[in-house]
Order: sequence, then C-alpha cells, then structure tokens
Amino acid sequence: MRTREAETAHSQARECALATPRPRTLRNPTSSIPSMPTTISTETLVIDGINITLSWKSGVRAMRIRILSPDAKAVATAPLHTSRSQVIQFLTSRSEWMHRAIKKVKSAPRPAPSTFDDGDTVWLFGLPYKLRLQASPGKKKEIYISGDEIILTLPPTTTAPQRRRLLHEFFKQRLAIALDVYMRDYTAKLQCCPIPYRIMSRRSVWGTFHPATRTIIFNLQLIHVAPAYIQYIVLHEMTHQYVAAHNAAFYRRIAALMPDWRERRRALQQFARTHPII
Ligand SMILES: [Zn+2]
Repeated sequence: MRTREAETAHSQARECALATPRPRTLRNPTSSIPSMPTTISTETLVIDGINITLSWKSGVRAMRIRILSPDAKAVATAPLHTSRSQVIQFLTSRSEWMHRAIKKVKSAPRPAPSTFDDGDTVWLFGLPYKLRLQASPGKKKEIYISGDEIILTLPPTTTAPQRRRLLHEFFKQRLAIALDVYMRDYTAKLQCCPIPYRIMSRRSVWGTFHPATRTIIFNLQLIHVAPAYIQYIVLHEMTHQYVAAHNAAFYRRIAALMPDWRERRRALQQFARTHPII
C-alpha cells in the first residue's frame, strides 16, 4: 500500500513529465508579465548526499522540491525572499522524502527502447505496427505503411543508428501533420496568434513552451501515443502562454476546452510507462 507521502512523490515525479522548465538565464526585469515565475539564478546544493539543482525565482510564493522522471534528478525552486538558511533547512527536512522518491523513480519499470529490427513492434498514434526490413539492391531508402506493417527498404549494409535516423525523420513528418491540425484548431479556439513549434527527441518532457520566444518544442515520442493524448499536450503547452504554472487557473483554462483532460493525461502517463517508445 502506498503511503500518502509516496503518493505525493509519485504524482510529483509524473507531473514533471509535463513540466515546462523555464530557461536558466537572467530575464529582462522589465518583463511585461511580472507574475510569471522567472529564474534569477541557479546553483547546485548537496543535501544528505543528494545533488539538488536549486533555482531562485521571482513570481513564486513557496519552496518546492521535485524528483524528475526518468533520471531521478532533484530540482528545487525557492522564492527570492527566502533566506539561504531557510532553503537548506527546508531541503534537509525533506531529505528522507527525497531518498524515497529517488528510489521510486529509479525502480519504476521502463520498457527497453526499440532497436528497429525486423519484426519489432513500433507504435504509431497509439496503434502497433510490425517493422519489416527489406534489403534494396542499390542505395534506395524508402519507408511506407502497408496494412499493419511499416516497410523499411534499405541497403543491406545499413546500421541500426541509420535505421533509427530514417525512422525518426518519418515519425517527424507524420507527427507534424497531427500537430498542425491541433495547433490550428486551438489557435482558432483560443483566438491567439499562431505559435511556431519544433519537434525534437526529448527524454523527460512531452512538450515545453518557451515564453521568451513564444515557441513550443514537442517531443518526437508523441508519435507513439494516441491522437487524443497529442491533442491534450498541444492544448497544455498552448495554455502556458497565459499561465506559466501548473495551478488551478491553468487547468481551469484547459478544462474549458477539454473537460476530460485529466483522463487523457492519466492514460498518456500509463501508456508511456508500459510501451516501448523511441
Ligand atoms: Zn506544463
């Protein structure tokens, strides 16, 4: 049975999967949105043998510590008005919790990523496809979907990293089609200006909204999950243009356009835990 504390550790670790870390640079103090949490400086502290990345922030009221998944990295934030001794006291008082949370995140079962061999299962928009490798006589490289198979035609000398690169390019093109649809849809519903985005391979975040450049980075791994979950991530990141924190106001805005966001988020987290992705 989980303790209440462990529950908190679990939910915080998972919540981090959707966190949008602020850039660790000094921001313009005359920013037009003074209430946005802004990192003023970052340092590393060692408390009870745990390396903690501490960010001093303006626009936050309370100290916070999180253990990020999947690397079990400890990150803390402290409001500017807090003294250093208060921060150390706070972190020391949470050291037992941190050790438990780190152990929990590290021991969480994670499926091995695909090596993209013939017969491997590759998930595309929440559906399984069998990967079929075919040798091409020349230098021809081709990928297409046929029924429930992804056919990859390559020269016989192609290595696993080359297969991965080719598949990633294919995933990127497919994911962009879905993202374009959802981005356009929510741009109209939110009546906002279009937000440029990029797709990158990330390890622990589905998406990141960068307020300074007003751009979004989406994780390439989204290609593997059902469209309903991609849609949630799009709305989640776009909502960060209005509210930086994951607070009640933030989720109220999401719920206004997606009443079942909570179920989608839960299902997405469950999918990521149980399926081999990139
Ligand atoms: Zn977020």
